Amino acid sequence: MEKIAIIGGGIAGMEAARRLLQLGHEPVIVEKSDHLGGHVAGWYKLFPDMMSARELVEQLAAGLDGVTVYYRTRVANMNRLGSGYSVMLSNGVNLQCGAVLISTGFRLFDASRKEEYGYGVYDHVVTNSDLEAWLGGAPDYRIPDNPASVAFVHCVGSRDLKAGNPQCSKVCCMTAIKQAIEMKEKFPQADIWCFYMDLRLFGKKYEDFYIAAQRDHGIHFVRGRVSEVSEDIDGRVVLKAEDTLAGTPVKLSADLLVLMSGMLCNEDTQSLARMVRADVDSDGFMRSRDNIYRINESNRPGIFFAGACTGTKTVPETVGEARAAALDIHNYLSGND
Ligand SMILES: Cc1cc2nc3c(=O)[nH]c(=O)nc-3n(C[C@H](O)[C@H](O)[C@H](O)COP(=O)(O)OP(=O)(O)OC[C@H]3O[C@@H](n4cnc5c(N)ncnc54)[C@H](O)[C@@H]3O)c2cc1C
Ligand code: SF4
Repeated sequence: MEKIAIIGGGIAGMEAARRLLQLGHEPVIVEKSDHLGGHVAGWYKLFPDMMSARELVEQLAAGLDGVTVYYRTRVANMNRLGSGYSVMLSNGVNLQCGAVLISTGFRLFDASRKEEYGYGVYDHVVTNSDLEAWLGGAPDYRIPDNPASVAFVHCVGSRDLKAGNPQCSKVCCMTAIKQAIEMKEKFPQADIWCFYMDLRLFGKKYEDFYIAAQRDHGIHFVRGRVSEVSEDIDGRVVLKAEDTLAGTPVKLSADLLVLMSGMLCNEDTQSLARMVRADVDSDGFMRSRDNIYRINESNRPGIFFAGACTGTKTVPETVGEARAAALDIHNYLSGND
């Protein structure tokens, strides 16, 4: 039985671990936080089916019986040893592994860097991630009891050269629509507005979701970038934008502003890449051998990738890649490449 170090216990690492276990290997998860599930453990419901994120994480965790998980642990050092790797952990454990899977995921763009939106300055400005936590039951004083109007701003720190990230984060149009529907269901009297540059709804059922948001929930979509946010004397958030379809300026007072922070590369991924001399892309995400057929493979023998460490991914893409990575590792260790 070969040990495989899985670095990162988000849904990618969990799904790969359970598949490797089924294939007769000994996966060991190294997780820097105190829980499994990564970002998804902090989400409430998942588009497009509105599946409970907690249930997904629990389902994946149920397949990990017998898998060693080191929490609050990082990789201190990693070296090639024979045909495998010697992986030294921050807790002093040394793993001799046949292969290594990097599944360290992403980090969220820090919305306070876009000063014009007032995150951390105005009382009623939150991010997509804050709203997920609140929807899941965490208290948040910034979210008013009975908002009459809620505005969502798309592309915060994505598709934004000034913020240093020209890439589309891929998931935030759908997250905005999902959260807009959830807010409308909680506060049926509220007017809900989404300010977008383009709507990128590429996945199965995504377009239906958008149509339902307009038709069944009366959510307003305005094409245009919000240029300025301020706070009025009553503590309401005032947004200025241009409706680029109608060619008219828009001014809106909202009780809550939600910023759709984008997905960026995890800085941990880069230090790991340096350790094993794996390549990173210009956007800082791990570089796959190619982006068509060998997405799970690195340029180093025995080092594999899964999930959002190589780029922005949805949940189905992440778990699908994790399964593929498990099979790739199995074939690599069996000499069946
Ligand atoms: C606001 C928001 C809402 C979303 N909602 C949806 C949705 O409804 N539907 C959908 O399909 N997708 C959604 N997504 C996308 C989804 O979050 C990702 O597809 C998923 O999180 C990717 O999983 P992952 O395991 O690759 O990465 P992550 O979730 O980032 O997990 C990575 C794990 O690795 C650990 N880690 C990182 N570095 C190290 C290290 N050096 N050592 C050890 N451990 C490390 C982290 O602690 C974490 O546990 C959403 C994204 C955002 C931003
Ligand atoms: S998915 Fe939508 S909100 Fe997110 S970066 Fe792309 S266009 Fe912007």
